[in-house]
Amino acid sequence: MTENHPLDADCIFCKIIRGGIPCFKVYEDDKTLSFMDINPIAPGHVLTIPKFHTPNIFEAPSEWLAPVMATVSRVARAVQAEVAPDGINILQANGPGAAQSVFHIHFHVVPRALDDGLTMNWGITPGDMTAIGTLADKLAARAAADKG
Ligand code: AMP
Ligand code: ZN
Repeated sequence: MTENHPLDADCIFCKIIRGGIPCFKVYEDDKTLSFMDINPIAPGHVLTIPKFHTPNIFEAPSEWLAPVMATVSRVARAVQAEVAPDGINILQANGPGAAQSVFHIHFHVVPRALDDGLTMNWGITPGDMTAIGTLADKLAARAAADKG
């Protein structure tokens, strides 16, 4: 699938797709990959990307967005079932003015709590890798079993 849709040698998310950098994988199919954000806003913060390097919503081919969003919804259901937050935001940043820091398009599944006080442009705080890995395994089982 990526033969005609090249990866970028310098892109950190392309390196994750290639396996050059590890990730806590939650779900993967031929076009998409979901993995835990290692600086989570909240437990169950998951990123979903196309297995194709494209920087943002302006340049992403529309035929890649449908499979990406199908995976986002699959992961959101897994997070809702496992973490049971008060709500979930789907976030996607384009450009530095929108606080985009990785320039490979990605969709955040962000579990929310009524009292979390979350504001846009949150800071980066490294997570507990053991806790992230444990939750990734639980979410992966739910995402794999999801019937859509
Ligand atoms: P954005 O600000 O929308 O570009 O979000 C990029 C996200 O990627 C941030 O939430 C980072 O914590 C996350 N991130 C960066 N590098 C990695 C990595 N190697 N594995 C998992 N998440 C990452
Ligand atoms: Zn990339």
